[in-house]
Amino acid sequence: MTKDVKTILLIEDETDLVLGLTDAFEFEGYSVHAAQTGEKGVEQAETLNPDLIILDLMLPGMNGFNVCSTIRKRDTTTPILILSARSQENDIIRGLESGADDYVTKPFSIGELLARVRAIFRRIAPGRDHNSSRLIKVGDAEINVDTYTAVVGNKQTDLGFYATAILHVLDERRGEPVSRDEILDAVWGIDANPTNRTIDNFILKLRRVVEKNPAKPRHILTVYGQGYKLAQ
Ligand code: CA
Repeated sequence: MTKDVKTILLIEDETDLVLGLTDAFEFEGYSVHAAQTGEKGVEQAETLNPDLIILDLMLPGMNGFNVCSTIRKRDTTTPILILSARSQENDIIRGLESGADDYVTKPFSIGELLARVRAIFRRIAPGRDHNSSRLIKVGDAEINVDTYTAVVGNKQTDLGFYATAILHVLDERRGEPVSRDEILDAVWGIDANPTNRTIDNFILKLRRVVEKNPAKPRHILTVYGQGYKLAQ
């Protein structure tokens, strides 16, 4: 991580969500500015020159699509992540075509949104070795932490966000046991609705992909009374 504080402009009209996201992002070390209408968002995008814009589609007045294309007319580089309750494919396509870089549909977990934001900053960070920062090797499997996929031989499997994030947490402490509570904190953060059982199910899913014999795992190990550990 670089030391300079990154600024996020949040264009969102739901006050509770603005407060929750501001807390979460400030806790992660970002500086957050919020605009509650599209017009104010366009204005602040210009005056603040933020490092990233999180944009809701359903706004009073100017809608998110128009906000996005208006910002893009002047600024082609600042990443824009669209946040919206709309999950229809044509809205996603329209959002991306109006110049957004990524798209998260509500309801979402704060953990997922933070991970997406970190991934965007990793992609644009200068001089980073992308291949080494994005792949985790587990046995014969290679897991891409940005696309949430695993490749074993010539077979690619979609792991999804949570299984990938859990593996990432284990990999950061490879060789050490990590408790289920630590995994919950790291992956779900303050939006911790899931239970320990949820983690166990994602571990089973991971083992089915990366282990030759999922019933006798050699890579993703259970440490009784402690949690899980990724073998060296
Ligand atoms: Ca809204």
